[in-house]
Amino acid sequence: MTFSELVENQRCFFNTNKTKEINFRIEQLKKLKTVLKENELMLYASIQKDFKKSEFDTYASEFLLIYWEIDEAIKKVHRWSKRKRAKTNLVNLPGKSYIIPEPLGVSLIIGAWNYPYQISLAPAVAAIAAGNTVILKPSEISSETSGTMATIINQNFDENFFKVVEGGIKETTELLKQDFDKIFFTGSTTVGKIVYEAAAKNLTPVTLELGGKNPAIVTRDCQLKKSVKRIVWSKFLNSGQTCIAPDYILVDESIKKEFLELLKKQIEEFNYSFENENYVQIINEKNFNRLIQLIDKENIYYGGKYNSEKRFIEPTILHNINFSDKIMEDEIFGPLLPVISYRNIDEAILKVKSNPKPLALYIFTNDKKIKNRILNEISFGGGCVNDTIMHISNFYLPFGGVGASGFGSYHGEAGFKTFSHYKSIFEKPFWFEPNLKFPPYTKTKLNLIKKFFG
Ligand code: NAD
Repeated sequence: MTFSELVENQRCFFNTNKTKEINFRIEQLKKLKTVLKENELMLYASIQKDFKKSEFDTYASEFLLIYWEIDEAIKKVHRWSKRKRAKTNLVNLPGKSYIIPEPLGVSLIIGAWNYPYQISLAPAVAAIAAGNTVILKPSEISSETSGTMATIINQNFDENFFKVVEGGIKETTELLKQDFDKIFFTGSTTVGKIVYEAAAKNLTPVTLELGGKNPAIVTRDCQLKKSVKRIVWSKFLNSGQTCIAPDYILVDESIKKEFLELLKKQIEEFNYSFENENYVQIINEKNFNRLIQLIDKENIYYGGKYNSEKRFIEPTILHNINFSDKIMEDEIFGPLLPVISYRNIDEAILKVKSNPKPLALYIFTNDKKIKNRILNEISFGGGCVNDTIMHISNFYLPFGGVGASGFGSYHGEAGFKTFSHYKSIFEKPFWFEPNLKFPPYTKTKLNLIKKFFG
């Protein structure tokens, strides 16, 4: 079947109005959870093959979030999809106003490889909850997980409703030529621009979940030891291949020495090693080579060793780094942590603001004034105060980027909204008909309009 036929078939199914039934949506969401649970072992085995990610990591950072999304949607979909009353302004009285959430139609979801299940399936949950049909194209780079998702979804769902298609650039380019009602893309800023351009041809609404260089700002009055523990955990989770991992550190120069020592101690305590379950591989040779090129031997404070056969890179701290260094040009997306010191908070804020808007930002401080200045003055997708990455795990918080890190958001109700159109309706009775708005337009009518409504 061609992509054009697949989209056409999904549109025919959408037009039967089946997906508008809330019970149908709930049924499909329940089925998705059951199918995932039944096949969890196979899904763990696939991600092990792709980049040696453990069952613990996969469950905690992928399945848990997907299950929460499913459970929340099942619980709230009736409420989310209800008509919402709106106020009616004076000029429209008597009358009533309301908003009807409606599904957009046939949606395309394009995924990235780094959290292959969560990134593909959490948007699919939102699309289904909102009453759309779904064509999901996971990343070909994590080919095992992509293949397993295709097998289990395509065996269990009607392809006119939910279908996984596999492929790389060629297939995605072909898919993007089709006329979708919504495109949801997760990936790099470079490919985000390609997707946006393709979507513009059909005026298709787009959500772009992209990457960026996420700063963690560490001030001198934070709880340093605990801050370091949280930073190290999130940075080396998935070997740094996390879109919201702290990309680099901005630390007050008065505590830099102590901060670096604590970083080193904490890494040693977590005992990362290739033999351990808690440290994953770099996804492929291309990324491995890109990363090792970024290790400037002169700036290594800790780590720096690697094994190309096993695609393993030690957690590596780089110090004496400047914004003009190569490692500060693009998102690192690996276990390398540059540490830059700042003299005062103005300098730190200025530096972050002179770069593209990041997907996430983290502040470690007990100083309320500094916290509020950073929250107020720097634009970024989302983030945490005195923690890292955990904002993604709260489905009451919309998750997404801004500027170069993307636009639109999802998780919980935000996901439902992303895949919905809100149709505004004004309903008027026939019993009242002032002639003010109808021709002929007289001076008297104009004066009355000005007097009562101007
Ligand atoms: P990528 O942009 O290379 O690929 C993403 C998807 O786009 C894949 O499915 C791929 O097949 C497709 N693709 C690649 N090149 C294409 C092209 N020329 N034309 C059409 N489609 C194309 O990204 P990636 O390497 O898979 O993922 C890493 C990036 O994703 C990082 O920048 C990371 O920050 C970002 N990311 C963002 C989030 C988020 O939630 N904001 C989450 C995970 C990853």
